[in-house]
Amino acid sequence: MKKGRILTGDRPTGQLHLGNYVGTLANRVKLQDEYELILLVADYHSLTRKIDKEHILDTRQAVRDVVLDNLAVGIDPEKTIYYVQSDVPSVCELHLLFSMLTTTPRLERVPSLKEIMDAEHIEQPSYGLLGYPVLQAADILHVRANLVPVGKDQASHVEVTREIARRFNFLYGDVFPEPDALIGEVPTLMGTDGSGKMSKSRGNAIFLADDAETIRQKVRNMYTDPTRIRADIPANPEGNPVFQYHDAFNPNKDEVEDLKARYRAGQVGDVEVKNKLNAALQTFLEPVRERRNYYASRPHLVDEILAAGAAQVKPMSEETVRLAREAMGLSSAIVR
Ligand code: ATP
Ligand code: MG
Repeated sequence: MKKGRILTGDRPTGQLHLGNYVGTLANRVKLQDEYELILLVADYHSLTRKIDKEHILDTRQAVRDVVLDNLAVGIDPEKTIYYVQSDVPSVCELHLLFSMLTTTPRLERVPSLKEIMDAEHIEQPSYGLLGYPVLQAADILHVRANLVPVGKDQASHVEVTREIARRFNFLYGDVFPEPDALIGEVPTLMGTDGSGKMSKSRGNAIFLADDAETIRQKVRNMYTDPTRIRADIPANPEGNPVFQYHDAFNPNKDEVEDLKARYRAGQVGDVEVKNKLNAALQTFLEPVRERRNYYASRPHLVDEILAAGAAQVKPMSEETVRLAREAMGLSSAIVR
């Protein structure tokens, strides 16, 4: 007997990175046995960013990359349903119904909206971008999921989902669960440039698929404390991305504590700290890369996984939409 149902997913805006891993993928791997896991590749959500056809066509490669990255970290397609959002368009009807249950000022207050607008130099959000959390509510609730593993930046979206579920149930009767967010062990992994969160789109990511040499170079060029111009200057490891990554990815806790102690005392150079981080990341990412290569060289497997997933999610989604219509009194069968 499973404990419940998880809906989780990624936008196909590029390959997945270490931030995605600690934010959500690690929880997916951990919970895939206890929960029924549904993994969404959110291609409609990528339309909020760029709408020219060339980019939409590029998204198809990004969809495959996101699936490969999830397979690579060990999310087992035998246990997990993988599907592409636009393969199950009934979610759009739920999105429309939900869009009546929240207000524009409420959506304007969602913190990630402003972040996206700043990062992408958008002056006026499109109707679709403003409604991004409403579509996310429909993603979660069309399969009636009760747990949503997300990074901290997305927790406010799950709050919108809960509000919409509550409002729907209050107005029309109990149809939807009020899902909980599950934040990863590292709520926000910093970027390699030390400025804010690691993001696919900000050029500050170490990707799960990066080769050994690329990882080595990215680690070597990582931001560290700029005031520390010599190894004998005592400094604080807190807030330094190199140490945040050590905490997240170096399983040798004694080594990490020793490095931190010597860093505080001005007895270790950045080169040693970075070399040890590089070694830990290589050990972590090598099997990930191998599993990724296995699936990447067998593209028919990804096709089959996505086709099977869409076939499983479609009836769940259509059934939910039917229940919602009926609860609202929209169904023409009731009018007769
Ligand atoms: P984009 O720049 O396109 O928004 P992203 O890197 O933010 O990409 P998403 O696809 O938006 O990645 O997010 C996928 C999941 O990973 C979400 O649950 C998000 O909260 C989580 N996540 C993203 N970046 C980080 C990070 N740096 N630390 C922890 N979790 C993260
Ligand atoms: Mg994001």
